[in-house]
Amino acid sequence: MTPGSGFKVARIFGIPIYLHSTWVVIFALSTFSLGNLFTQNYPHWTKAQQWGVGLLTSLLFFGSVLFHELAHSVVAQHYKIRVVSITLFIFGGLARIARDPSKAIQEFNIAVAGPLASFFLFAVFAVLEKSFPHSEMLGALAGWLAFINLRLALFNLIPGFPLDGGRIFRAIVWGVTKDHSRATRVAGASGKLVAYGLMAGGGFFFLKGDWQYGIWLVFIGWFLLNAAQESVAQVAIRETLSGLSAADVMSHEIPTVDGHITLEEYGAEVLRTGRRCHLVLSDERLVGMMNVHMLNSVPREEWAHNSVQSAMIPRERILWAAPEEPLLRLLERLLAADINQMPVVSGTENGGSHVVGMITRDSILRVVQNRTELGPVVSGR
Ligand SMILES: [Zn+2]
Repeated sequence: MTPGSGFKVARIFGIPIYLHSTWVVIFALSTFSLGNLFTQNYPHWTKAQQWGVGLLTSLLFFGSVLFHELAHSVVAQHYKIRVVSITLFIFGGLARIARDPSKAIQEFNIAVAGPLASFFLFAVFAVLEKSFPHSEMLGALAGWLAFINLRLALFNLIPGFPLDGGRIFRAIVWGVTKDHSRATRVAGASGKLVAYGLMAGGGFFFLKGDWQYGIWLVFIGWFLLNAAQESVAQVAIRETLSGLSAADVMSHEIPTVDGHITLEEYGAEVLRTGRRCHLVLSDERLVGMMNVHMLNSVPREEWAHNSVQSAMIPRERILWAAPEEPLLRLLERLLAADINQMPVVSGTENGGSHVVGMITRDSILRVVQNRTELGPVVSGR
């Protein structure tokens, strides 16, 4: 699932709220089973009452899931961490934040806010149910919502990353050991354990004949397993790149082109040499950077009448790297700006600067791949 996929339905506290296409399936299923439940339990209600209360309960259930995600989000915003989006999908809700919390206590508070919000809703609906003992419909609605919010809180507290409980667990290990990577690995391992446990439980219910619940548990387990593996892989990439700088991976070959040639000629140069990025010179002076992406942004029929200089990234808009810049930060900058290559510039004694190399996303990813294949023995740590 990619961030922000699905239809945007609202914006709350500045956060866009999305409904993922798979959410429609779970909403239909939950409305259907609630309608059936109320039909069974309250045969004296009219059809409209049974299904109307079913629909309203189902809507309030997803409102509760949204409330849970908003609780995480408000605490994240309190720590000046931007919340990119909240998405409701088949397994519940997901709040995406722009960066990881920088302190263990922040992660702990963000994670614990969700289950606390669900416990709060449990209490509200439980009180509501007790306060109006003579209203059967309100009682049915509030009773079910109290039960489901309690289950939501308890399920999320299972200490398997990336469930809230797993994040709380990671924050505690992080706070105690002061080692974020180690904390993520430990929490990731617990996440895998919980995921396999859920899948095994699903298999058990399936064989016992409760196949719907069984398949459901297997799916949730499978989803959690993927998420746990992904987060451990991210930490592995961080560790692989730590200690390396731009100078270690840049290529010393710096292809250049003349700014006066046409885009047609530039296209031919790219095809001939296979190089996809060039520094642009005009009368021996550096004036900009040109690449295949910029070439393709000009319609094909205009290539003959336009020069490289008219389509290039001008010098003042080029993002530069320094040779000593840490590779991880550089990769984050490349990804954030959505660019593929960056010239590496080094200062000289007389105050000038010159280009010493080029760095590409591919070359960084190749380093990650090579180091992963060769193992930690040769990584110099
Ligand atoms: Zn949560």
